[in-house]
This record gives sequence, structure tokens and C-alpha cells, in this order.
Amino acid sequence: MANLIQSESHLLHTPGSIQPHGILFSLTEPNLIITHVSQNIAEYLGISPQSLLNQPIEKLLSCEQINAIQQTLYQAKGNSNSCQLSFSTPFGKKEFEGSVHRLANMIILELEPKIIEKVENLPDFFAWVSNALANLQKTSNLSEFLHLVASEVKNITQFDRVMVYQFDAQDAGEVVAEAKREDLYPYLGLHYPAPDIPEESRKMYLECRLRYIPHLNAPPVDIVAAENAISSLSVDLTCIHLRSVDTCCVAYHHNMGVAALLVISLIKDGKLWGLVSCHHQTPKYLPHAVRVACDLLGQFASLELANKISQDELDDKIKLRSLHSQVLEAMAQKDNFREALLSPFARLLELVNAQGAAISLDDEIILVGQTPRSEFIDQLIEWIDPQVTDSIFYTDSLSKVYPAAAEYKNVASGVLLLRISQVRRYYLLWFRPEVIQTVNWAGNPLESFQLGADGNLVLCPRKSFELWQETVRFVSKPWKMSEVESAIEFRNAIIGLILTQADELAKLNQELERSNLELASFAFAASHDLKEPLRGIHNYSVFMLEDYTEVLDEIGIERLQTLVRLTQRMESLIDVLLKYSRLGQAELNLHKTDLNTLLRQVIDVFCVSYPENDLEIRLPRSLPLVRCDAILINEVFSNLLSNAFKYNNKAEKWVEIGYLEPREQVKRGWIDAQLAATAPPVFYVKDNGIGIRDHHQETIFRLFKRLHAQNKFGGGIGAGLTITKKIVERHGGIIWAESIYREGTIFYFTLESYSIKSN
Ligand code: ADP
Repeated sequence: MANLIQSESHLLHTPGSIQPHGILFSLTEPNLIITHVSQNIAEYLGISPQSLLNQPIEKLLSCEQINAIQQTLYQAKGNSNSCQLSFSTPFGKKEFEGSVHRLANMIILELEPKIIEKVENLPDFFAWVSNALANLQKTSNLSEFLHLVASEVKNITQFDRVMVYQFDAQDAGEVVAEAKREDLYPYLGLHYPAPDIPEESRKMYLECRLRYIPHLNAPPVDIVAAENAISSLSVDLTCIHLRSVDTCCVAYHHNMGVAALLVISLIKDGKLWGLVSCHHQTPKYLPHAVRVACDLLGQFASLELANKISQDELDDKIKLRSLHSQVLEAMAQKDNFREALLSPFARLLELVNAQGAAISLDDEIILVGQTPRSEFIDQLIEWIDPQVTDSIFYTDSLSKVYPAAAEYKNVASGVLLLRISQVRRYYLLWFRPEVIQTVNWAGNPLESFQLGADGNLVLCPRKSFELWQETVRFVSKPWKMSEVESAIEFRNAIIGLILTQADELAKLNQELERSNLELASFAFAASHDLKEPLRGIHNYSVFMLEDYTEVLDEIGIERLQTLVRLTQRMESLIDVLLKYSRLGQAELNLHKTDLNTLLRQVIDVFCVSYPENDLEIRLPRSLPLVRCDAILINEVFSNLLSNAFKYNNKAEKWVEIGYLEPREQVKRGWIDAQLAATAPPVFYVKDNGIGIRDHHQETIFRLFKRLHAQNKFGGGIGAGLTITKKIVERHGGIIWAESIYREGTIFYFTLESYSIKSN
């Protein structure tokens, strides 16, 4: 497919001919002497051009008509003004319509015979124009507006195809609206390279809003000049409506199957924004009134364009805003920012019209849509990070600045990166594919030029109008300013969200700190304020038992003894509470510790505490060196060892203390084989005691939770396992029990973080 409007730039300064559907006169001012005339004057008026040159126009027109021309020129504000003239010819009276305008120091009169018979069948143009304008005003967005422009122009001109063509920042263009005969192949969405309409042609479309070529193949008609006027032929005839057509342009459109052309300029803010281009497969003559109506519509469309564009931009902004709030709302519902960002949402792509996105949080990367592989993204971030300014970096030709990206140009020729945190490695990236993946170019721009005989580049017709993909390599669609702004706004919103969450976290921390303090002061009160009166009660009860035994009866003595027991118990409860509350606060004293030495001390103390014990302590292999707080781990082993002894009613009691290496953990299915190198040892204390029923295996770790009466199994106050668990957790580890009721129990624990695969 050819360019829509083939340039005729090299004709602009040396107009030697006009199209044959009209006639042209050039007159001097003020005497109105004919200096130039088109050769076809003989055909239309039955008078030879030579006989008119250097003659006053009165030779052809009445005084009233000449006055009318002068009046039109006098009132002229623009450079073109309609006029209607009639000529007496050997073939009778002939009606003409056209325009009169000044050009340099000449007056140009361009006339076409009135298409009388057709005018009678034509609709009421005024009604049509006002109707069309009202409809255009009602459209709600730019695309709808441009499509209506195309279809209104098609209605009035009855051309086969009407397209609206929009230029981009690089002067390449796209068919953005189209109204056509149903059987024709659609051109909507096709792209045209910038050389199709060179700078000079753009200037021409900017100056003259309407270009009409009713019969592209009609042979041009020469303009003849009076001898003394030849030098003035070099004037710029850009705005001569009848200007003849470049042969290149003719060939172009011939290849496209186009025989008639009408082009209306769309101008925004003094610049050529686009064109309405009308094609017809056979020659097509339009009455002057139709062209005036089209011109009017073009002018209105140009004026309304700015409104529609800003309306569209506003709509875009509103759409993006609502997208922002949807995404942010979804994020705000998550407990933390990480979780929120890591749950991929397709809407993320719509925020900046990207085809792919990546969320990179420290070492994690989540991919959405079409993206390079994660390892490429890591490297890309490394490269981009130092170049980020104001937390953003974007380019539509990544591999030009970062050649490694050529490998994944299909998905990421364009990238937009947002840095979310200055401290953490948090980034959001969006990707766009190479243009060639997304756009069909309407022809190869390089084919639209050929080297002329003089060595200059000349425009020439393309042979093929088939879709052709231009090799615009390694470049994506550009990031629009509104999209970049949207990304920045999104970043600010995320930061806002993070700050709010950080705020909430800080508040929570404050609360926790406060309740920790309260707990500490409670512990203090418990140890001093509560323990003092308690000790008083205890001491007085003991004194009374010692000094008043004779006075008291048996019931009295028993009650006092209960009181003593209760105060003792209460004191030990308070002690445990105090110890437990301090465990949470005290700094751990971490050192590499030989657990074998530690265990030996534990066993020694155990033997002193239970001198009569008949427990067999099995140590299948020596324990590893670990980093821990030795005093606290001593307590862990002591608790577990004494429980193993206490909660055992077998004739031959035994306990085994050991650990499981990673490969044994893999064998048990607790961890995956690839974690074997890094998994910590799992320690265990196993007995052949009374066992714990399944439903109690969790509850035993609760404070003051006992499964037996205090006088059974020499039990304590139900704090040993709670404290053990707390110590293990302070080391980052976990503890759990496995037990078979009446057969025995195994307590497992780690001193580092550990997670067991859930099956
Ligand atoms: P206590 O200080 O009373 O021994 P623990 O917190 O150490 O309390 O234990 C809580 C409960 O768990 C105990 O009352 C006991 O019923 C049960 N228990 C603890 N260790 C074992 C074990 N090795 N075998 C069976 N039951 C046990």
C-alpha cells in the first residue's frame, strides 16, 4: 500500500501545469491584465490562450462580474475565496465556480465548470454540515470522534474509502479511523513511515487545508504565459487548488487502485496533527459546495481535536487512577507489603500498557505476562540501578544502551523500572516487546525513495502495497509521558502504603514495648511486692505451728500446714512466672559450645538430684559443637532428662539423647535432599516412659499445664516444657514431641530455624 498522500514537493516551485478539470488565469493588479492562462481555455471557452494573454479580463467578463471579483478580494481574509462566474462562449453561456486569491503580486482565478445536474440531486449542505457538527460534538472520545469524521466525510463525498491518518512524534503515522465500502480491504491500524510525507509536503498541507484530485490519470494542462511574464512563473504555487499532480503520486495511487483523491488537513495548535484522506477507485468529480462542506468539517474537526484529545487524556488519567486504587486496595488488604506485591495481578500491566512485568523483592522475583527470564532480570537491575534518577528509569530501545538485552528483545525492547526502596532491593519493572512484534508497517519506507539520474533521492511509487513488516529493530513502542507519570504516581502510592504499614508496625511495636514493660514491672512486683507478704504469711504460719501446737486442735494444725504448703507453691509459681517473663527479654549469650561437656554436667546434676534413680542414660554418639547459650541449653536438657525419668513407670527405665544428621532427616522425609547441605542437626531425647496421648502433644507446652495430679510421677508445676520451648525458640529453633501412649516419648528440637515438609 502506498502512502496516503504522495508528496508533490518538487512541483511546488515550478508550476507548469494544472489538472484538466478546471481553468486558470493569472492577472496583474490593479489593471487585471491576463499574464498566464491554462492551455485548456480553448476547450472550455472556445477562445485561444494566445488571444487572451496581455489582454484585460474585461475581454471575458462583464463589469458586474469584475466588480464582484474585486469585492471578494477586498473582503478576503484568508487566501482563498469562492466565486461564481459565467462566460459567453461559442457554445453558449457557461457557468463556472471556483476561487480567486492573491499570490505574490498576482491575482489567481481558478475555475471549474459547475456540476449543475448533480447539484440538483445533492442534499442540503447546510443541514448536513450542522447535523454532522452536532453529532461530532456528542462523541465521547477521540477514537469515536475520528471515526465519525471519516464516516461523515464518506457520506457527503461518496468516496470508496475515507481514512483518518495521525502523525506520531517521529512523523510516522497510523490509520486511526476508517469508513469504507464493505468489500474493500481495511487499512485501519496500518502504520506509515515518516518519509511518506516529507517536511515540504507537511508545510503544504498546513497552508492549504484541502487537496482535490478528481482524476489522477487525467493528462495535465500546461499554463501558458505572456512573454513579459515568464519570470514570474517561479512563484510558489502551493495554494493553487488546480495544481497538477506529480507523476510519482499518480503511479503510487495507480498501484493502490486509486483514481481520485481528496485530502483534508487536521491541524492542532498550529501543527499538522493528521489528515483525512479519501480514495475512490474511479475518477470522481465533486461539486464545489461539497468541498466547501468538507473544508468546513475539517476546520471544525481541527478545532474540536484539542478538546477530544484532552478529554481522552483525562479519561486515561481517570482510568489509571481507578486502576491505581484497585491495585492499592488489593495490596492494602494483604497483611504486609511483600505479600501484597508478590501476589501477581494482571492489572499491573494495564497501569502502563505493558506486556510484561517483574516484581523484584530482595532475592525473590515474581513475573507477570511476557518477560525475560529471572536471571536476566537480576543482571538488568544490576545494570540499571546506578542510572536510576528520581527512582525511575525507562527506555524504548534497551539493547541500544544495554547490548545484552538483544537476546530478549522479543519481550523487552522497552523497559520501565521503578525503584521502590532506597534501602532494600525492591524494584518494579515493566516490559514492552520490539515494535516489529506489534506493528504492521504499510510498506517498506526505504522503497519509497530511489536514486535519481542526478544522484539525488527522489520519491517513487512502491511496487507492492501488501503488508510489509519494517525492520525497526530493537525498539519498542515509546513510553508516553502519561504512562511514565502513572508509574511514578503508582510508586508514590506504594510508598504511602508502606509508610502507613510501617506506621502501624511502629504503633504495634510501641504497644508491645509497653506491654513488655508492664510484664517486666509485673514480674518485679511479683518478685518483691507479692513475695514479701507471701513470705510473711509463710513465716507466721510456720511460727504458729512451732509455738502454738499445744493450743491448737488437730484441724487447726492441719489447716496451718495446708497454708504453709500453699504459700510454698505460690512462691514457686511466682518464681516460674518471673523466670519466664525474663526469658523473653534477656540477651542470649551465644558461644560455640561442646554439647558433650554440657550434657555431662546435666547428667551429674541429675544424679545428685535423684540419687536413687535407676535410669539408664544412653548416648549413642557424641553431639556436635553448636552455637548456643550454654546455661539455657543446659536447662533444656535438664528439663527433658528429668521428665524422661519422672514420667516413666517401667521396670527398666531408659532415656536416649542424640541427634539426627541432615541425611537422616531427608530419609524421614522431613526435608528435601537439596537442603541436606544446610539443614541443622535435630536433637532428640527419647524415653520408654508413660507416653503422651496424641491430643496432648501440643498442650504440654502451655504454661502451668500438667497432665497429671501434682502428687503423681513426682510432677512439677507444669512450667518445664514451656520454659524449654521458649529457650529453643529464642535460639530460632523449634521443638515438638512424638509419642506412643504407654510406650514412650521422643522430644525433638533444633537450635536454628527449621521447617518440616508438610506431607
Ligand atoms: P512439669 O514441670 O510438671 O513436669 P512439664 O511442663 O515439664 O511440667 O510437663 C508438662 C506435662 O507434660 C507433664 O505434667 C507431663 O504430664 C507431660 N510430660 C512431660 N514430659 C513427659 C514425658 N517424657 N513423658 C510423658 N509425659 C510427659
